[in-house]
Amino acid sequence: MSQTVIQDPSAAIDIKVDVELRNVFKVFNGDTAVRGIDISICQGEFFSILGPSGCGKTTTLRLIAGFEEPTGGEILIRGKSVAHVPPYLRPVNTVFQSYALFNHMTVLDNIAFGLRIKRLGKAEIQQRVSEALRLVKMESFARRFPSQLSGGQQQRVALARALVNRPAVVLLDEPLGALDLKLRKEMQVELSNLHQTLGVTFIMVTHDQEEALSLSDRIAVMHEGRIEQIGTPSDIYENPQTPFVADFIGDTNLFQGYVEASDPAALQITTDKGLKMVVQPQETWNGATSQPVVVSVRPEKIQVSLNELDNQPNCYSGRLKHVMYLGTHVHYLVELSSGDCLTVLQPNRAESLPALHTPIHVYWSATDCLALTA
Ligand code: ATP
Repeated sequence: MSQTVIQDPSAAIDIKVDVELRNVFKVFNGDTAVRGIDISICQGEFFSILGPSGCGKTTTLRLIAGFEEPTGGEILIRGKSVAHVPPYLRPVNTVFQSYALFNHMTVLDNIAFGLRIKRLGKAEIQQRVSEALRLVKMESFARRFPSQLSGGQQQRVALARALVNRPAVVLLDEPLGALDLKLRKEMQVELSNLHQTLGVTFIMVTHDQEEALSLSDRIAVMHEGRIEQIGTPSDIYENPQTPFVADFIGDTNLFQGYVEASDPAALQITTDKGLKMVVQPQETWNGATSQPVVVSVRPEKIQVSLNELDNQPNCYSGRLKHVMYLGTHVHYLVELSSGDCLTVLQPNRAESLPALHTPIHVYWSATDCLALTA
């Protein structure tokens, strides 16, 4: 079977697809964990599957790895169906959150294990293990046992053990989940460098949105077994297509409402609590009025003022309910006269902060908010 190739007209190049899921389902004892997902992951891409606990991320990764068989649909790797192909015969290797190292073996033996099972020659094993150790900067730790390593070093060994097989696709299941925040940030940079050096496809499962945004070429956001949106990090953040994606990625303020009138430049929306809003429609807007929508406004897009503003769309009065000083930023909680509570994030301009309960006005432009189909 030939490999799927996507024509990308903007780049005028052929993009080869490494991993493809077509309408894949997975049911465990009557409970559906994955509900008909379609994903195409390109060669050399850093692709993340992001979503809350229990949404089906790990199951999706395990289906690609071959640790689970799909209940329905098809999985292709490099254009070939992998139905009934056992994990060790797939051109993929998995790095687990728990590292899954053999504690009674040295670092070197852990990394060489898979190659010895494959009965490769001694010289080749030595050369490949040295290369893998060098890639993860662990050459001087070859004779140590896993218990003599820090969490970050163990994670590097787990990575080396996957890379030594020279897989086409590296599957990463919450690879940095067990590390503390500082080490996690350092390892994120290393993971990104490694991906660039190797040029192989990385598919990472994470529930950490910042990690997904900073590392990935593209992200699939999953929710209750379905894919809500696939896009670049900026697509996902700036143009969420559903209220769930808007709420899950970053912070946002959501208002339920309906469209009263629309033209190509502006939607006139009335929220359930009676606020009148003007929103510039997204390109995909279908033009229908009277339909329920959810308006999403990011906290950093909202301006605050002590003075009332005339002739400004999306301008509302309220009172300051809470102020949190964050150093570089100030976080405000504003209770509007409608009863809605808004979170606002403003850069710290070293001005004195308004006192609690101060009457305050908030506003944002029609281009700084989104109307999402409810
Ligand atoms: P987390 O971030 O908590 O790991 P996840 O998004 O990776 O969550 P999955 O581990 O894929 O979620 O689980 C999705 C659903 O499938 C959950 O409801 C889970 O309980 C169920 N599930 C996963 N594996 C099995 C299994 N082997 N048997 C039965 N149910 C399972």
